[in-house]
Amino acid sequence: MLYDSVPKLFAQAAEKLEAEFEKLPKFEIAQDGCATVEAMAKVLAETAHRLGDNYPYFHPLYAGQMMRPPHPIARAAYALAMKINPNNHARDGGRASSVMEIEAVNQIAAIFGWKEHLGHLTSGGTFANLEALWMAGQLRPGERIVGSEQAHYTHQRISGVLKLEYKAIAADGAGRMRLDALEEELRRGGVGTVVATLGTTAMGAVDPLDEILELKKKYGFRVHVDAAYGGYFKLIEKSLEAPARRAYAAIGRADSIVIDPHKHGLQPFGCGCVLFKDPSVGRFYKHDSPYTYFTSNELHLGEISLECSRPGAAAVALWATERLLPPVAGGEFAQGLEKGRRAALDLDRRLRAEARFASLTASAPELDMVVWAVRADSGEEASERAQKVFDASARRGLHLALVQLPGSWFGIPESLEKAESTITCLRSVLMKPEHEAWLNEIWKRLSEACEEVVG
Ligand SMILES: *Cc1c(COP(=O)(O)O)cnc(C)c1O
Repeated sequence: MLYDSVPKLFAQAAEKLEAEFEKLPKFEIAQDGCATVEAMAKVLAETAHRLGDNYPYFHPLYAGQMMRPPHPIARAAYALAMKINPNNHARDGGRASSVMEIEAVNQIAAIFGWKEHLGHLTSGGTFANLEALWMAGQLRPGERIVGSEQAHYTHQRISGVLKLEYKAIAADGAGRMRLDALEEELRRGGVGTVVATLGTTAMGAVDPLDEILELKKKYGFRVHVDAAYGGYFKLIEKSLEAPARRAYAAIGRADSIVIDPHKHGLQPFGCGCVLFKDPSVGRFYKHDSPYTYFTSNELHLGEISLECSRPGAAAVALWATERLLPPVAGGEFAQGLEKGRRAALDLDRRLRAEARFASLTASAPELDMVVWAVRADSGEEASERAQKVFDASARRGLHLALVQLPGSWFGIPESLEKAESTITCLRSVLMKPEHEAWLNEIWKRLSEACEEVVG
């Protein structure tokens, strides 16, 4: 088994890394505190036990949030880098890992067809979007940022932090930004940047980026693509339905892109990425600080990043993963994305054939995420039932997620008093390749849970 060999492979690599430093005079490692092997073993056993109190994110029956463990190569490479614990703020803090970050980020930019670009890793999608919107504010000061009402909630919050005005644009019944609503906002003037989400967090909806770019010709705004979740689907754009395929085909024409290797890129949390098409925006990052240590003339990543210290290990893990599983169309990594997508389409087909469930009226899943409601006469009842199916599924070892969406999208009447309100729906992120083979088992448990709740 490949996975069983990881400890041995790691030990071999750790020895090789030791050998890289063999010329150093030997020294005794100080015992920090009074750690002994026995004491460490005891604490680690306790740690393992404590970690047992978790949903089993690694298992195919966990089909809830955007959660999965990193690939073993990423775990091993990250752990290996811990011998050094490099800081990718500057070459002086992480010489090898800075170069590895540049190479790893170049590979990500290549997914979108960008040879020239400026970009780096961040602590996650939120910070990557913060940099993109900060840049938007530098280039278009005093102008509004707009994104769909299904855009990630942090865009509004980030705009607040940056003191930029933010406006939410209505979404259609498939969760995509409505072009008529966008154009109405554009006509009012003062829109500096449009955030297009390719793969919304709630339901994996893909905003019509190609058509947004057409509007750009007339209204001249910046386009930032938030593809924190969906960015890697560029690799399998040919197998997406027409609207999403057209949006992905246009992604290279954006001004900036955010993608999260810690979501679909098999990385541990703490790995986002921001890319700018025009490298000259690097001038806005200029700073002067007496205590940073830029001692060489090469580019230090700290000169093009808002964050100071950043984990070189995250870059090392991503670099190693990309070496093993290159993010290219048709490759093994891309095939894993296809599997999750097929699982989502399979689940959606089964849900549509089942009278107890209500599927999205406007479209089938665009990526690998499925949302559905439990049919009922009112929004309140549908919400209660969804919560109960969620609980009954969990009792059967199947872990789903919940999401609030407009009931009208599922053909469920919302309550009269709360015409603007949303209902609770079920949501499943089928992001592990194993989900495809496990769909019968997932469906069996879901059906049993529904039987218990609705009869
Ligand atoms: C997850 C996500 C974010 C936030 O990214 P974090 O890595 O959680 O900070 C932003 N936008 C979209 C579309 C996301 O899916």
